[in-house]
Amino acid sequence: MQRTKVKDLLTGAGEGQDVLLKGWVRTKRGNKYVTFIAVNDGSTINNLQVVANADAFSEEVLKDVTTGAAIAVTGELVASQGKGQAFEVQAKSIEVLGKADPEAYPLQKKAHSLEFLREIAHLRFRTNTFGAVFRVRNAMAFAVHKFFNEKGFVYMHTPIITASDAEGAGEMFKVTTLDLDNPPRTEEGHINFNEDFFGRATNLTVSGQMEGEVAAMAFSDIYTFGPTFRAENSNTTRHLAEFWMIEPEMAFYDLKMNADLAEEFIKYIIRHALEHNREDIEFLAQRLAEEDKAKPQNERQEMTLIEKLELVVNNEFERVTYTEAIDILLNSNHYKKKKFQYDVSWGIDLQSEHERYLVEKHFKKPVIVTDYPKDIKAFYMRLNDDGKTVAAMDILAPGIGEIVGGSQREERMDILVERMKMVGIDPEEMWWFLDTRRFGGCPHAGFGLGFERVVQFVTGMGNIRDVIPFPRTPQNAEF
Ligand code: ATP
Ligand code: MG
Ligand code: MG
Ligand code: MG
Repeated sequence: MQRTKVKDLLTGAGEGQDVLLKGWVRTKRGNKYVTFIAVNDGSTINNLQVVANADAFSEEVLKDVTTGAAIAVTGELVASQGKGQAFEVQAKSIEVLGKADPEAYPLQKKAHSLEFLREIAHLRFRTNTFGAVFRVRNAMAFAVHKFFNEKGFVYMHTPIITASDAEGAGEMFKVTTLDLDNPPRTEEGHINFNEDFFGRATNLTVSGQMEGEVAAMAFSDIYTFGPTFRAENSNTTRHLAEFWMIEPEMAFYDLKMNADLAEEFIKYIIRHALEHNREDIEFLAQRLAEEDKAKPQNERQEMTLIEKLELVVNNEFERVTYTEAIDILLNSNHYKKKKFQYDVSWGIDLQSEHERYLVEKHFKKPVIVTDYPKDIKAFYMRLNDDGKTVAAMDILAPGIGEIVGGSQREERMDILVERMKMVGIDPEEMWWFLDTRRFGGCPHAGFGLGFERVVQFVTGMGNIRDVIPFPRTPQNAEF
């Protein structure tokens, strides 16, 4: 007999017939006449109830059917008389495929803290919360490809091992094949990377943008979606050392078209999750609501998670320039009452407290901030006519802060080379990047969206470590 997944059984597929299901036991309860076993196989948040009558299954047979055990069950799929599920399986055979010692298995019935579950990241997939989070993540990843392919973008695989530091932030992991206990040295005593397998110093990519830009100069519209690495030693709830970034790059786009695309894209993947993973998101919303009940009145959320998401997909994002954003902050009561930790003046990089004020207190919706001072943004962003600002945009989301960083790119060779020199980049080394300006350069734009930050937004998870299956953070790479 072929196995049917729980998700399909719960829709009544095969009602009145014998079915085979396999999965892990969540709970077992009952009395001397009947035992109810809740089985989950990861296909849905819901469990399938298996009913084992005492006349067919002795206690001896059922003793290894404990929480966490893997079992295979055959039986008839029937309409359930009990509350909570429409269908259940009347068991004819139960086989324990893998036992789970109740004394040792950590995921017993009681609720566990997210901190504890992070320590057993390999088992946390078996909880309702993480089952829901990673099914939502999966749906959103699928929606990323769907969105761009429907628009005719080409999925371009940019390299993981690179020589360029697109962000110039110096947050790169080195990649080397040299024996670092005994490395070859130059005459000056530096490690001689010329003898490395790659023949030079290389890093794990911090962004696929530059490679994406050169590909867009042939395909018009491309996107990358892959792992990105930043050796930032920051222990925040928004940063990982390894995260996934979506980076579209479009020829013949200006900043406004770039912002329009980003807004449409964000709404699309959120809407997709709401449509395809409704039950998972409802479960996560319920989880947040429970958490909220424990908080004092004034700290509680004004809206449920679902209301928040629907508000975002159904309304236009606010758009302001950096200069307007600074004015809003300077004129706020928050500023006048000296409630910001960091001072505000034109030219500062917005701190997360400033971003959160704009999004959560002032506009109460996602905000696209454009035209930042050139000195706080990367060299490749297009210089505006005022000579002081660049055609940059950041998208800020409630509860999260920055989810997107993007810009129109500098296509003018002379200005680009001058900006490179100013930040200490040798234009010779970037010959391949500059070639696309030299030969048929054109206005173009793109952005980078941190995938985990959007998954955080949709799932309502407070810590970014809880939306990536195997988080990589400082001091954390157990497996
Ligand atoms: P932040 O200000 O939050 O550190 P950033 O400005 O350094 O972000 P960008 O270089 O603009 O980041 O990268 C584009 C996007 O990638 C960001 O908007 C964010 O969504 C995401 N991102 C950046 N760094 C991280 C990280 N360490 N972990 C997870 N996502 C990240
Ligand atoms: Mg950063
Ligand atoms: Mg930033
Ligand atoms: Mg940024």
